[in-house]
Amino acid sequence: MIVLNGKETALAVREELRVEIEGLKEKFGRAPGLAVILVGEDPASKVYVRNKEIACEKAGIVSTAYKIDAGVSQDELEDLILKLNNDDSVDGILLQLPLPKGLDSQKCLELIDPGKDVDGFHPVNVGKLMLGLPGFRSCTPAGIITLLERYNLPTSGKKAVVIGRSNIVGKPLAMMLMQYGDFANATVTVCHSRTAGLAEEVKGADFVFAAIGIPKFVKKEMVKDGAVVVDVGINRTDEGLVGDCDYEAIKETAKAMTPVPGGVGPMTIAQLLANTVEAFKNHNS
Ligand code: NAD
Repeated sequence: MIVLNGKETALAVREELRVEIEGLKEKFGRAPGLAVILVGEDPASKVYVRNKEIACEKAGIVSTAYKIDAGVSQDELEDLILKLNNDDSVDGILLQLPLPKGLDSQKCLELIDPGKDVDGFHPVNVGKLMLGLPGFRSCTPAGIITLLERYNLPTSGKKAVVIGRSNIVGKPLAMMLMQYGDFANATVTVCHSRTAGLAEEVKGADFVFAAIGIPKFVKKEMVKDGAVVVDVGINRTDEGLVGDCDYEAIKETAKAMTPVPGGVGPMTIAQLLANTVEAFKNHNS
């Protein structure tokens, strides 16, 4: 079985970006800038933000973290977003979710300038994805497509099942897989918590994408021999980090599969850097 090594692939993508950024800095006299807003003390969010900061620094992106007290008001948070929208040294704005209770995350996301929305969550960018127009793509699904490209596993003409319909993974991933292109052009089925006969749907798939949030939800018996399995899940359990798929069992019969950790997660960060570079180039063109 081919292990889809997201860690290695992400490092390769990040190195390519580092070289590109060096050239861009010389040409335009400044480095790409990413503003990261972290509200409150959520431990997982703090780790994610730290990892993003380190990746930015290594690639040559100037990342500025705005660490804000959980007691911030909606108006104050909106003011910060507006200020960053108007700051020419900021190419990308990332609002780390979830926000503490009482803050309206959707309202904040919609306030981010779509040209700086490197997470691809703004309705304008989501709409552009739907229409097949260029725009920022949500980092996790876009990172998954890059991983398939790098391992030369085209989805064109294949049956793909996406389990999960969240706005950040399931829905945009399904939409990307049904666009035109070798690493799209799939016949896509989306399964979710109310799907009847989910196991049979999955069994028919050449490509299985699991974004559920339930440890080892996808069992070996559900997966066709020779399928490609992409596990998005990150579940903290007594065994440590576990994906949504039963890796040890499925690896016996799958053609290729992502491990957890070291699969999709690192690709998400690499895509964030790629989106920030894209925003920088757009701002300088
Ligand atoms: P979410 O909770 O927003 O969505 C989960 C989806 O799973 C829902 O659409 C729901 O319909 C579906 N679901 C729940 N129970 C189900 C069931 N019994 N049968 C079928 N479908 C069911 O989650 P999300 O934000 O999409 O994240 C999913 C997982 O991916 C989580 O473990 C999360 O931590 C992980 N994640 C990883 C990355 C990464 O970079 N690797 C990024 C985002 C999310």
